[in-house]
Order: sequence, then structure tokens, then C-alpha cells
Amino acid sequence: MKEIIGVTNKLLEIDLTMKKWQVLNIDPKDRRMYLGGKGLGLKIYYDRFKSKLNDIDPLGSENDLIFMAGVLTGTGAVCSARFAGVTKSPLTGIMVSSSCGGPFGGAFKTAGYDGLIIKGTSSSPLYLEISDGEVLFHDASQLWGKMIDETQNTFNLSVKDGDLTIGPAGENKVSYANIASGHRFLGRAGMGAVMGSKKLKAIVVRGRSYRVRPVKEEMFKTVRRRASAQIARNDFAGKYRKYGTNSNVIPGISAGYVPVTNFRYRTDERFKNLSGEVMAEKYQTKTSSCSPCSIQCGHKGTYSDGIVKQIPEYETIGLWGPNIDNYDADKIGEWNLLMNRLGLDTISAGGTISWAMEAGEKGLRKTVLKFGKTDNIGTILSDIAYQRGEGEDLGLGSALLSRKYGGADFAIQVKGLEMAAYDPRGAWGQGLSYAVANRGACHLSAYPLALEVLFGFLNPYSTRSKAFWVDFFENFNAALNSLQTCQFTAFAYIMEPPLVRYTPNFLLKIAMQYLPWVAALVLDFSVLNKTYESITGISLSMKDYMKAGKRIHVLERYINTQMGISSKDDTLPDRFLNEADTNHPVKKTVDLKPMVEKYYKIKGYNSEGIPKDKTLSSLGIQN
Ligand code: SF4
Repeated sequence: MKEIIGVTNKLLEIDLTMKKWQVLNIDPKDRRMYLGGKGLGLKIYYDRFKSKLNDIDPLGSENDLIFMAGVLTGTGAVCSARFAGVTKSPLTGIMVSSSCGGPFGGAFKTAGYDGLIIKGTSSSPLYLEISDGEVLFHDASQLWGKMIDETQNTFNLSVKDGDLTIGPAGENKVSYANIASGHRFLGRAGMGAVMGSKKLKAIVVRGRSYRVRPVKEEMFKTVRRRASAQIARNDFAGKYRKYGTNSNVIPGISAGYVPVTNFRYRTDERFKNLSGEVMAEKYQTKTSSCSPCSIQCGHKGTYSDGIVKQIPEYETIGLWGPNIDNYDADKIGEWNLLMNRLGLDTISAGGTISWAMEAGEKGLRKTVLKFGKTDNIGTILSDIAYQRGEGEDLGLGSALLSRKYGGADFAIQVKGLEMAAYDPRGAWGQGLSYAVANRGACHLSAYPLALEVLFGFLNPYSTRSKAFWVDFFENFNAALNSLQTCQFTAFAYIMEPPLVRYTPNFLLKIAMQYLPWVAALVLDFSVLNKTYESITGISLSMKDYMKAGKRIHVLERYINTQMGISSKDDTLPDRFLNEADTNHPVKKTVDLKPMVEKYYKIKGYNSEGIPKDKTLSSLGIQN
């Protein structure tokens, strides 16, 4: 078998308008500065559209859709299934970058490429097949209108292959349509609509033409052993393996981060019925995950109707459970399956539906939707995907709907992206992170809620040190998402090295709150930069690695500011700033302003939230 040593630095560019393709090269300097995956995807997009970022119509022929295989993909590294998607979002009008653990990444990398650029628009539906160094353009008229799983079943995918597939929602350009790869998704901000606007139903890659070997094999084996051991002994990873992300349900009830009735309230004891612990027993769950993965947080189970279904993630459970006044797990399993087949992002769909319920209740907009009424949800979801009746309007998302009808104060979104199921009044750092995250109300940009609630290191109701840790984890996650390993490895890599592991919790707590820069100095995540070095041969210190993460995050912010984003957009829905009276005993709203001001200073942005020239030049970003 032919071999790839580390990475190929090859980019496959496919022009759908001209039905042509060519192979381009990634500049090795960019590889060092932007690492891979998300980072390189953003740099490639920036280089191609630098002078006209604000003019690109996300659903126009000129918008490129970029997919990047992970640096770790195909090497057998721990949690190495992931790949990135990067484009301009039709939901938010700014950049979206997403990570997915489906089989496309491994297949694409072992087909001999590191990245894929889709440009132009086809005049009729088609799907692409990438195989043995060739690109085939196939007619997809017979597939247009089919559900995601029905489409995937026609491709005869073997374990060597991978796909990217859209459903009816993507075809009909619903602004929060997703892209599936196997049973995993590039979920957020409407990448599926961009693919649909190009009349591209699917991309099939026939992989394993190459075997991937790390440049420094002995080093790779040593670091992989260390990574596996750290994951194996980490409690956070263990909980996710057992109960998935739904292990976040029970801590949320007491901490008060649960979304209830469109985030009007922030706790409800009935949410326990939807916890990972209850569902594991009820549905006799088994793992059903990205591959390869050492954590295996994904699960499937046998539902009451006898059908084996993927167990929804915490975010889906929260938004389709208490947030619409529903406590029936069977129903959420049914809707989750339907959304996965139609190709709808469960978070944005949930946030839009709950907004419509409240707008209906307040008489702002006529609707068939009502809190607690669940019998018409399936129909509404299909109507959104096929753009029929009320579904046509609901496909706009909550930000645009609230501009049309009023009700912006309870549209639970930032920069147009609906919020995941964590109420920021129960974790103020999470509030800051939502307000300033590059792609909108993204829970994964920094996820300080873990430090505030899950680990209890930071006071959730204080502004102290929040800007520091949001900046730290934004940079950390941008780098990690450019290696394209899973974010759920982060705490195993940070918390398990001996110095942190054997430091008493109370000392860590004091240091993280009062001396965060000292606490950051003792954190050892060298497993990441060493894995990168072993695969690519590029030696980076932990400091260089974090600087690359900062560069990636700031580049994405800079692109967004060129697309119109500024300090006016770095905020939270009014509900979290003005409504303290939830049914949680702590009656507080998020003290956002001082955290944002501090954050801008740490980040090197001016008071308008724009990266300063000296910040850009210190990171080597050319403006
Ligand atoms: S931990 Fe979960 S999300 Fe992450 S790679 Fe594994 S299965 Fe996928």
C-alpha cells in the first residue's frame, strides 16, 4: 500500500460550475502557523476572499465550502476521527467552522488529501465520488428529496469509505440545515444549506488508497500511550463514556443552567427523567460513537417502539425537553431521529421553535405551536425541512423571525446562532463565552461552564478571572480543533498530568480564581503539541502551540469584523441581562459588561471589539 508520511499538504479543489478539478498545495508555512483542520480552513478561506469578505453571499455561487481532514486522522492516534468544515454561514452571515467525527475524515485523508474546496454551483443536482485519484460527477436527480439515511443507503459505503450528505432541509436551503457523515454531523449555522445552494446532494470518498505513517513513529507511540492513559483515568471522560453528554443533566438542575420554557426559568426537577443515568437504564444503551475514539460518548438504545435509535445529545434533550415543556424522552428520541434524517440542526431548530411558542403566547405571531403541546412537532419539523406552510417562516431562525415580528428580548441567540442548552445565569463565564464566541452563541468555543460548575473551580456567579479563562480556552480549543481531535479529550489532557493531578483541589481553586496566569503555567497539555510534532515532524513548544490557537481564533474574529461584527454584537439576549426571577433560588442576571471589557484587553482588541493592528502583526496575520 502507498504511504503518506504525516500529511500530504494536498488540497483538492472541485469546481461544480465547470465540472473540473485540480490539486493545489498547502503552503508549509501556513501548516506551521495554522496547524491543520479548522485553522488551515480559515486561512484558505481568508486568502481567497480577503478583499471582498463582506460581499460574499453565503448561498451564492461565489461562496466556497471547505472541508479539512484532521492532522491526527488516519494515524491511529487517540480520538482521531474528526475533520472540519469551514464556510460563510447563511444563518449568521459570518464565518462558521465545525468539527465532525463521521467517517468522511478518515476516508478523505487516506484517499491522499488534506483538504477539499468546493466552489461554484451545479445547474442540476449532483453528487461527487472521489476515488483512486479521480473525481466523478454523478447525476443526483433521483436522490433529490430523499432523507439522509435513504441517500446514504444508495452509496454502498464500505468501512473504507466516507460521505457528506444533506437532507431535504439542506436542499431547500433552510438556514440551519446540517451535513451528515455517517451518523455524525457538521451541525451548526447552516452548512447544509450552502451545500444545497450548490445543488450538491453528497460527496462520497472511497478511502484507504494510502496508509498514514507519523514522521516520528517512536515519539508518536510514546505520546499515544500517555494520551490513552490520561483518558482512561479521567472521571469526566469516564462519565461521558457511561452516560454521554446527558451526564450534564443532573448537575444542571442544582446549578440552574437548565433551559426551561424558552429559558424563562433555569431549573426543573422533572429534567431528571431525561438524564443519561435514567436513559441508560430505560433504553439499555450501548456506545455508538465516532471511530476511532477512546472516550465513546455517543450511545444508541432500544426505544419503547422497539426501534434502535441514537440517544440525543444533552443540547437536544434540553432544548426539546424542558425548553418546550416536554418531559417525555421517547418523543425527543423520535424528533431527534426525524431531524437527523431531514438534516436539521437540533439546537437551532429547538431554539427557533421555543421562540415561536413564546411569540405565539404573547400574541406577536400566529402559530400552531404551544408550550407543552407535542402532537404537531413532527409535522412542523417536516414542514421546516420542505419549506411548507408555517415551516417556511420557521426556517429563518429565531434572530430573523424576531426582527420580523418583534420579540428580540426572548430570541435566545447571539449573532444569529441559537444558544445551546446552558442558561448563562447559572455560569457567568459561559455567558461571556456565548457573547464573544466567533460563530455566535456557541457552547463549545471555550466552555468555561466546566470550570464553573462541573469541576467547581470558579465561582459561577462572579466575574473574577472569567475573561482570562475564556481567552485561554478559546485559544486552546482553536488549536485542538485544528489538530481535529475531540474537545472532550481536553480535560483529560489538562487535568491528568501529575502536577495537576496531585495538587489539592482547594489550591487549584484558589489559583484559578485569584492567580489564573500562575494556574495556567502549571497546566501541562504537551500531549497535544507532541502528538502534532510526532505526526508532522514540525516541532512546536506548548507556548508556540497556544500562540497558533490564538492566531486561529483572532483570524476568525478578524474575518468576522470584516463581515460587520463589532462590540454591538458581543452581547446576550435581554432575558439573561434583565430577568433575575427564575425558579432557581439564586436570583441574579449575568454581569456581562465588565467581563467583555476585560476580555477585549486580554485579547488585544480595541473598544469596538476589533483586533488591533499590533495584535494582528504580533500573530503574523496580514490585514
Ligand atoms: S468523545 Fe464523543 S464526540 Fe468525541 S470523538 Fe468520541 S464519540 Fe465523537
